Amino acid sequence: MDHHHSSHRPWEDTAPPPDDALLAGCVHMSRLVGADPTMVLAGGGNSSVKTTERDVHGDPVEVLWVKGSGWDMATIEPAGFAPLRLAPVARLAELETLSDARMANELKAASLDVAAPAPSVESILHATLPHRFVLHTHADAVVTLTNTADGAAICEEVYGNDVVIVPYVMPGFDLARRCAVQFPTEANERTVGMVLLNHGLFTFADDARTAYEHHVELVARAVTHVDAARRRLGTSTPTPVPLPDAPAQLTDVASLRRDIADVAGHSMVVCSCEDEAARAFAARDDLDQVSQQGTATPDHVLRTKRLPLLGRDVAGYAEAYRAYVDRNRHRLGDRPLLPVDAAPRVIIDPELGVLGAGRRPADARTAAEIYAHTVWVIEGAEALGGYRSISEADLFDVEYWELEQAKLARQPAPSPMTGEVAIVTGAASGIGRACVVELLGRGAAVVGVDLDPAVHEVSSGVAYEAVVGDVTDAEVVAEALRTCVRSFGGLDVAVLNAGVFPDPAPISDLPLDRWEQALRINTTSATALLAACHPYLCRSTSVGRVVVVGSRNVTAPGAGAAAYSASKAALTQLARVAALEWASDGIRVNVVHPDAVFDTALWDDDLVAARAAAYGLTPEEYRTRNLLGTEVTSSVVAHLVADMCGPGFTCTTGAQVPIDGGNDRVV
Ligand SMILES: [Zn+2]
Repeated sequence: MDHHHSSHRPWEDTAPPPDDALLAGCVHMSRLVGADPTMVLAGGGNSSVKTTERDVHGDPVEVLWVKGSGWDMATIEPAGFAPLRLAPVARLAELETLSDARMANELKAASLDVAAPAPSVESILHATLPHRFVLHTHADAVVTLTNTADGAAICEEVYGNDVVIVPYVMPGFDLARRCAVQFPTEANERTVGMVLLNHGLFTFADDARTAYEHHVELVARAVTHVDAARRRLGTSTPTPVPLPDAPAQLTDVASLRRDIADVAGHSMVVCSCEDEAARAFAARDDLDQVSQQGTATPDHVLRTKRLPLLGRDVAGYAEAYRAYVDRNRHRLGDRPLLPVDAAPRVIIDPELGVLGAGRRPADARTAAEIYAHTVWVIEGAEALGGYRSISEADLFDVEYWELEQAKLARQPAPSPMTGEVAIVTGAASGIGRACVVELLGRGAAVVGVDLDPAVHEVSSGVAYEAVVGDVTDAEVVAEALRTCVRSFGGLDVAVLNAGVFPDPAPISDLPLDRWEQALRINTTSATALLAACHPYLCRSTSVGRVVVVGSRNVTAPGAGAAAYSASKAALTQLARVAALEWASDGIRVNVVHPDAVFDTALWDDDLVAARAAAYGLTPEEYRTRNLLGTEVTSSVVAHLVADMCGPGFTCTTGAQVPIDGGNDRVV
């Protein structure tokens, strides 16, 4: 896949605002660049517009609307910009020094709106540029030109006098101050941009469209130059490493994930990078050279760390990471160091390809996506004479930046199952759906299997990975586990929930195929799934856990339900044997026995009425027919299932817990 060609959208796309709607123009240009991953990745880049507003007295005040942190360019809205008094912000560039914490304070204090987001750390730089609209990205093609031994010379060759070229300076106050001095002395009437070596690109203009079009044009010139160099070099790229597929490779990924979590000190997810060029990169024989230079732009160090792990020696990586921190910690002076865990965020393996790692699935995917772009940058820069990043010390300064450390310190405790991976069968409805929602709510990543291709987004932005198919089909089970590994790196929790309730019949009249179908779906498929899950549960980042959804019928069978009751009894016995066999692997296997959960696909009003009649009850009496007189819902069952995966059940395996409102035949 060549992801570097002109996904740039024309200005007219999606109805640009009128020229006099200044903030709307800034939003529009930001979204256009934000929509192009070759220009903006993972919350990178920023933008601004200068306007005149009225303060509370009605007096005019010059305002810098600058992108707030936490907003993504692709989806930014007017509320994503912080309105800062321009004059005091621009004046900060006159100071000799300014600590990051003090700078953040001054920017916040200059805001006209206390509810606005924290302004970008590049705000002072935006303020000092004289133009109304300012746009900044870390476009792949531009950093490719600059991340070379002759970066400045290559930029001069490509851009001539059209840009001011600024050497690498740590982003924030120092960079703003440097630009405030250099830009006015070097800019001329032709200047349309500013290239920050090893960092990115600024363009500017007095209208949003021109600022945007300068940006697109300067990036396109860089792409042309890189493409020409790559064509001249004409090296053949290696065959891409295939995505992990064979059972041994899949369990290798799970072992790797476990090792990464061990080093991190908590569960982590690992995802396979699907990008073809990245997988071809993983087959190069000079990775120890080209992949060990540093990131494409300083920001990335927060997502990918400075270096990827080559191969699988996670402990060795962690040791080297700690040594790097020790070598550089003096740079913090007397500021305390809040350690970042020593686990890698990008792994390159000649057999497994490129993998991203992170606390949450989105973190792992972002690391993998950034690396796919980094591969393009590295290969382009190699064609231009050799990829060079900034120094280890410079990257340390960004990774352990005061403001980033403050963000780490403020982070709320993650949900209890963050970094864990669960599989749920029968995920599309009823108890299974409720389990998916509950596990996602507790922070786990979830793969759901169901015949029904239900909507896999359970709430805004919260989704599970759906595998559509029949759990009795071995290929569907294999696909589900492949999905667990490729998307999340392994498996920690299996919830065996899929089941059928065959039409009731007395034993004397029970068609054998109905009996066999109940056993095949409720029991045999569970046996096959448990066997398939075992290698991954053994490699859990904490301990493997299985929760089997049994039935009250196991302990209190009902006449007419021989097939269902017997299949669930066999399933329960299967779980008990698994608890025995897998205890030495640390895997806990427990069973819940729900009763009369009517908000599931097994039940409809007719069936409730029929079963109620069989007991001489009204449907309402039948629904609450238990000691507590309460209706058992899917969500309360799901709550118990998730609890069984949590700390309260650390010492429990082989248990059967009823969830039925209390049953006088069993209590
Ligand atoms: Zn930047």
